[in-house]
Amino acid sequence: MLSFSSASLGWRMRTTSQPYLIDRKNFEPAYLRLYESGELNRRVERALEKLTDCRLCPRDCGVNRLENKFAVCKTGRYAVVSSHFAHFGEEDCLRGTRGSGTIFFGWCNLRCVFCQNYELSWLGEGHASQPDELARMMLYLQELGCHNINFVTPEHVVPQILEALQLAIQRGLRLPVVYNTSAYDSLDSLELMDGVVDIYMPDFKFWDQELARRYMKAPDYPEAARRTIREMHRQVGPLVFDENGLALQGLLIRHLVMPGDIGGTRQILEWIARELGPSTYVDLMDQYYPAGKVSGTDYVEISRRITPKEYRLALEAARHAGLRRLDERAPAKHFAIWQ
Ligand code: SF4
Repeated sequence: MLSFSSASLGWRMRTTSQPYLIDRKNFEPAYLRLYESGELNRRVERALEKLTDCRLCPRDCGVNRLENKFAVCKTGRYAVVSSHFAHFGEEDCLRGTRGSGTIFFGWCNLRCVFCQNYELSWLGEGHASQPDELARMMLYLQELGCHNINFVTPEHVVPQILEALQLAIQRGLRLPVVYNTSAYDSLDSLELMDGVVDIYMPDFKFWDQELARRYMKAPDYPEAARRTIREMHRQVGPLVFDENGLALQGLLIRHLVMPGDIGGTRQILEWIARELGPSTYVDLMDQYYPAGKVSGTDYVEISRRITPKEYRLALEAARHAGLRRLDERAPAKHFAIWQ
């Protein structure tokens, strides 16, 4: 039985007899209703106003980004975009046969020391993009045939995304929107995104606050992640697919298994099963490798890949927690059309 708590989403779909399946022909992206009612425009105005005293994420910097001032996330008035392309490295239910239309934002509000996108998140690779340019990227990805628009590291640029999305919808955007986040978001931001995002994809990284302090300088991360993931679940419910196995709507939680279990895999999986239900869709990722500031001299305890045994234990923890919907991938085809 599907449970969509947000009336703004549930009214648009009719479920098939199978759980977690909906007819593609009955699906419309969530944002269309907000756009048609004028609510999206009001959200854009509210979101831009919030940039004047930025507390869009738990860092609570309070700077005026409309005046191009910046703080932890090093992003002022305009979003920095590092790349946009059809991504074939995402989960099968997102990449499908034509790729996930990914837009990577530069800079980050979290900046893990082991970041696997270090040049983007720490060095801000990319260029500041005006709303019109960002809208054109979305439409280009739609023209390429991508199955969705996948915003990667969107936490610090929610107003800029809304501003551009409105332009893209005016010009014909109709793809589901994926919000691909570290889960270090604020409830204010998620309220702005309620009814806009079709698929929330938070990566729940750490359970222990001291480890979150050591690796992300964010001891409040575990609490923030629990709070925001609960809210994401409230907005969109469990992940549902069309008849071809493509995700259309719902929550997909990622968790990267770390060396020495520093992430707290068992606690995170048990929390997910207990708080959100055993049918929550989870991707237990095994691809950690040392990157960013991790080296043979710094953070040496995580300067290795995980072992097969560590991953096996993580899978056992998922089964023990009762989680029934773990992501499985077909043999990987890691290629992309770069733009
Ligand atoms: S979005 Fe950036 S400026 Fe705003 S509170 Fe977060 S880190 Fe600070």
